[in-house]
Amino acid sequence: SVRVRFAPSPTGPLHIGGVRTALYNYLFAKKNGGEFILRIEDTDQSRYVAGAEEYIVDSLKWLGVNFDEGQSVGGPHAPYRQSERKDIYHKYAQQLIDTGKAYYAFDTADELAEMRAELEAAKVDNPSYNSVTRMKMKNSFTLSKEEVEAKIAAGEPHVIRLNVPIKEEIRFKDIIRDWVVVHSSTIDDKVLLKADGMPTYHLANIVDDHEMGITHVIRGEEWLPSAPLHVLLYRAFGWQHPEFAHLPLLLKPEGNGKLSKRDGLLGDFPVFPMEWKDEAGEVSRGFREDGYLPEAVLNFLALLGWNPGTEQEFFNLEELVQAFSLEKINKSGARFDIQKAQWFNEHYIKKMPESELVAQVNAMVNDEPLAANLVTLMKDRVKFVKEIVSEVPYLFNAPAEYDMAIVEKKWDDLAKKAMPIIVDLLKGVDDFTTENIHHAIWEGLPEHEIKPGKVMQALRLAVTGVGNGPDLMLMLQILGKDEVIGRIERAIE
Ligand code: GLU
Repeated sequence: SVRVRFAPSPTGPLHIGGVRTALYNYLFAKKNGGEFILRIEDTDQSRYVAGAEEYIVDSLKWLGVNFDEGQSVGGPHAPYRQSERKDIYHKYAQQLIDTGKAYYAFDTADELAEMRAELEAAKVDNPSYNSVTRMKMKNSFTLSKEEVEAKIAAGEPHVIRLNVPIKEEIRFKDIIRDWVVVHSSTIDDKVLLKADGMPTYHLANIVDDHEMGITHVIRGEEWLPSAPLHVLLYRAFGWQHPEFAHLPLLLKPEGNGKLSKRDGLLGDFPVFPMEWKDEAGEVSRGFREDGYLPEAVLNFLALLGWNPGTEQEFFNLEELVQAFSLEKINKSGARFDIQKAQWFNEHYIKKMPESELVAQVNAMVNDEPLAANLVTLMKDRVKFVKEIVSEVPYLFNAPAEYDMAIVEKKWDDLAKKAMPIIVDLLKGVDDFTTENIHHAIWEGLPEHEIKPGKVMQALRLAVTGVGNGPDLMLMLQILGKDEVIGRIERAIE
């Protein structure tokens, strides 16, 4: 059965592109009745950032992208954190040594730098530690078996490198990119096990994908250059490699280059699922804190690089699972269009249960009847829940000034004649509800030969200071009789 994994490195907050990778893995697993695994690739201790793993788990939880196996939920292949699997990598590195597919190397940093400098001076195209240059270095090829053993016994620092075959063609079919063909001469003898005993990404990644029974590797396009090396590693072990699917890049909104973490710091829009504060105290915006609903983020991300092949645009998670297939992922990069995310958010706010919206607004205004009225008033007009409050400041504070363009157009003789009459009419309304207010104005004004429709914008101006906004009658009810009358009288002066 299908088994896929999301394998982030906890080197900082999870980028939204990483969330998309996780989502596609999840969708593919669920579509095929398989398992989705979260594996933490934390072997590069110099890049480890505290809190990053928790952030990854919390982000996926917020979005409802649940994994079947992982550090926090357990599973048959625990531990799911690579730093706790060191013994496993040692065992497999030893296996490669024993079969001659890997070898020991004892070169110091200085010696490696010297080799690079020499190659660069000789204008060698692709200076690297490979089948040619290894013959001048300190390793299993140039030292006798006894010398190697003596060095290891003496505790001399050493690494284990892959013995890359000299003339081999590496070809594999990527589900998205189609055939990839690379010659082994372009690949260097990559370090598999570092001097500190930690595996490199390449070794740990291949060993774990094999051990955990991963059938499909679905990951970002930035890993495509590593894939030929991975295929070589699978061959060295004598294992069959999983299928590969490399996802298209996320591009900046203008399409000019790759979307980066820095785009989040610059601050026009969030590129992280949740807010993140780094050690320097710098805060990166998060979709969650910006007021995006998880449903909107999921729908938005799903369509960044994948299309259902139909006109349908709104999908909940279950519908995404049903519609998803790797074959419908685009080859070309996907432009990160934040307007589209807002558009989805607007849609999902309209679909939110009323009671939940009221609860969220009540948390801002601390007045349940008011919260309910605000939701009725604003729910179809906002992109974010917080706008239900922030877009109607005049419901909380009387206007300090009036929109002069509207004053010039609408505060005419008719309006000036109508306002005192409206004040009188409103004074006569006992139960100050939308219906009663409406009734009083629409019955009363015509008796003075005034068509209510002609002065409504002036009334809005008097009460709110601006020329347009949500339902006026409901706003009058929310403000209450005394407040409304007071505001009109102030406007008349
Ligand atoms: N640890 C890698 C990353 O941070 C995983 C790449 C892969 O999926 O193989 O993206």
